[in-house]
Amino acid sequence: MGDVSVGRTLDAAWAVDWLRRSAEVIAENRVKLIELDREIGDGDHGENMDRGFQAILVKLAEGEPETPGAVFKLAAMTLMSKVGGAAGPLYGTAFLRAATAAGDEAALDSGLLAAALAGARDGVVARGKAEVGEKTMIDAWAPAVDAAAAAVAAGASPAAVLDAAATAARAGAESTDPLVARKGRASYLGERAIGHRDPGAESSALILRAAADAAASGAGA
Ligand code: ADP
Ligand code: MG
Repeated sequence: MGDVSVGRTLDAAWAVDWLRRSAEVIAENRVKLIELDREIGDGDHGENMDRGFQAILVKLAEGEPETPGAVFKLAAMTLMSKVGGAAGPLYGTAFLRAATAAGDEAALDSGLLAAALAGARDGVVARGKAEVGEKTMIDAWAPAVDAAAAAVAAGASPAAVLDAAATAARAGAESTDPLVARKGRASYLGERAIGHRDPGAESSALILRAAADAAASGAGA
């Protein structure tokens, strides 16, 4: 039998890799996110998110925090100060609540990881008061957290928890296409929002897939 601890926790190196991969995928999808936000908002979501994650890369280059919680806190502070609009405070609060859930632990097991994701969702809800079906990033986060909890209950590894969360977030983002928006700028459009994906739900799905990719790559496993 091998060491049962291998692959059962995710440490600060994973969290740093998650942020680096997020920065990469947000940069790759910058124009796409701008276009989605142009359809139902003001067209700045891709630019806002890219600015925030590039600033995170600069912070990480200055020094990498030593716990996942501290990495999440670095992300929270940077996103709050660098990302304007609705998304900055929403993502900032998400990462801050994830940091609180992660505490000072050197590494997160599946249960703590799911708690951090639930904290992130709760932070978005506390800030934005959106419910599922209102065409916001909550439509990605809520199913992701539910899928993570189900995976934990089934005994999944952290990497498998994140894979389940990312898969659910992707489906959740796609589920916003036919919806009328009830929160944020897109709510001013009424039925004209139908047929367009919510940009924040799309960026959330990208970021959660980056978390799963970082875990699957073995960084910090
Ligand atoms: P702004 O709307 O100020 O231009 P962004 O374009 O950066 O900000 O972000 C828009 C995204 O923010 C939306 O696509 C949606 O996912 C998210 N959003 C807006 N309002 C809320 C809210 N009240 N709750 C949750 N998410 C929200
Ligand atoms: Mg916008």
